[in-house]
Amino acid sequence: MTEQIRFGDRLFLPVLMAPYRLRADDPPQRKLWIYVLDPAGIGLKKPTQCVDIPYEPLGAEGIRGAVFEVEHAPLPSYLRKHLDWPDRLIQEFENKPLHLDEPRLAMSGGIAPCTGTPLFAGQMAYAVCQRVYESFTEALGRSPTWGPWAAHRIRNGEAATLRIQPFALEEANAYYDADSGTLKFGVFETVPDGSSNLLPGGLVMTTLSHDIIAHEVTHALLDGMRAHFRVNTHPDVPAFHEGFADLVALFQHFRYPSLVEQAIEDHGGLNSDMLLELGREFGEALSGVEGRSLRHAIQQTVLPGQSADSQPLSYTDAPVNEPHKRSGVLVSAIFSAYLQIYEGRAKELLRLANFATHGQQQRALPSELISLLANEATKIAEEFLNVCIRAIDYCPPLDVRFGDYLRAIITADRMLNKEDGTGMREALIREFRRRNVDLRKVRDLSEYSLEWNSPSPIDRPQIPGLAWSQLRFANDGLTAQSVAEVEQQAGALGDFLSFQLDQGSQLVSELGLTGISGDFGPITIESLRPVARRARNGRLLHGMVAEISQCCSTPDGPAWGGSTLVLTEEGQIEFAIRKRVDDEERLSAQRKNLRDSEGNPNFSFKHMHGLHDQG
Ligand SMILES: [Zn+2]
Repeated sequence: MTEQIRFGDRLFLPVLMAPYRLRADDPPQRKLWIYVLDPAGIGLKKPTQCVDIPYEPLGAEGIRGAVFEVEHAPLPSYLRKHLDWPDRLIQEFENKPLHLDEPRLAMSGGIAPCTGTPLFAGQMAYAVCQRVYESFTEALGRSPTWGPWAAHRIRNGEAATLRIQPFALEEANAYYDADSGTLKFGVFETVPDGSSNLLPGGLVMTTLSHDIIAHEVTHALLDGMRAHFRVNTHPDVPAFHEGFADLVALFQHFRYPSLVEQAIEDHGGLNSDMLLELGREFGEALSGVEGRSLRHAIQQTVLPGQSADSQPLSYTDAPVNEPHKRSGVLVSAIFSAYLQIYEGRAKELLRLANFATHGQQQRALPSELISLLANEATKIAEEFLNVCIRAIDYCPPLDVRFGDYLRAIITADRMLNKEDGTGMREALIREFRRRNVDLRKVRDLSEYSLEWNSPSPIDRPQIPGLAWSQLRFANDGLTAQSVAEVEQQAGALGDFLSFQLDQGSQLVSELGLTGISGDFGPITIESLRPVARRARNGRLLHGMVAEISQCCSTPDGPAWGGSTLVLTEEGQIEFAIRKRVDDEERLSAQRKNLRDSEGNPNFSFKHMHGLHDQG
């Protein structure tokens, strides 16, 4: 390998950070109490649940797991004022971190849910983060890793755990701090004459919102998969981060069967705010308006002069400077497709039930039917959530647009399942089309055309040294055996790229790269990960996914291009999902976007979740 190739910061993280591996005498899971919806969700029969999370030992020093750590800090003064605790209780809190392995707590699912117990807030954040992490592990077929901050921490001899600060801010905000690797949650007062669901002037802890925790930890997980998605190259990029975090948070609702059953019982279907809205307590507390959630899965952003029942917000009309509003195009397209698939399936079950009761329409759905319908809703939601997460492996390494994401979903699903069994792909294509999402470089809207198709089928070389049979794994059978093994694998890819560059091969251009000279810097291998995925028919597929980037210096600052390489079990390049580093049209769009966003190349999540961004 020559000096034309570099290794990125995140390359070795899969070996250096790993979730706890169960020992034979460990319990498989730990039970913990959480609020499944915001505590202000009035009318919910079961607002709390004791859920299973992957087990790991947690000592007496507080919640310090292998991938998450809850900070146990002194109570800030504003919280002391609100809690109005005697000094004895405050001291007890400060001297005694939560010890979830203590036998009584371990047997009772930790602390019982309570809005006035700061220790519970930490337990809840930990539990929800672990559940979302588990969703990613299942969908990706590997353990997710963190963003560049984790590599810096490891270099400094610190643990690469995502830090959770339950009371980091006295404000209506919560965000992922991508510089320090921290989830910061705010605490704030409701407006004095708030909605009837909330106590006026009462305290809202954002750590008690399942939706907000799931959304924030998803930002951190996405940053671990695609660190360049924080580079503000196009209005779609920050909007994608927001939309993806909302999608994951929304689909988490369907992992709680009692929630889904209640929605079906009360509304006859899934079109219930309980399932489709995000952050109700936060929204009500800020606005004082009852039922005003932070965001909604399918309710459209209504533009001035439009009525709420008009066509869905078109991609071409979506605001360019408001990522949350823009992300509504993506979220509503995917959720509408989900609801269509569910409704189709529910119709079949309802027809069957009517037949079984001699065609008599029942006034209330029998509980057995509700549970069957809920089961279907959960299964379909799991399928959507899985493909939404897995599709990130099929996204370009940077400058992601909504249209790219649709193509990534179609490709990811077609790779595992040739047949569109449930009609999911067709529904998704239709909903993206209805919103005029830009798919300019696609011949037509068939699945075949939408699937990525580069490099050309006749030129898909095999990379020596990266066939599955040549890789050496740790005991889990999926993580590379050692740092030296990652070095060897990345070296094999580097040698291959160097050779192609030296030969002036056409493949370099197919990968979105160019020769290293003048403004074009070296090529960086950002990540290289083995993956194993199971298709609907049970078939297990192995392969690798690599992210490669190249930087180009422009008068307006750095710009990037590169490829995501999806390799087959034999180490052959199946897809190169690229953004050309020398694409003048794309770079000029990036320059324009940078000017519009006041020249800040990386966007921060800090200012995206506060009061002013509600909508
Ligand atoms: Zn966000």
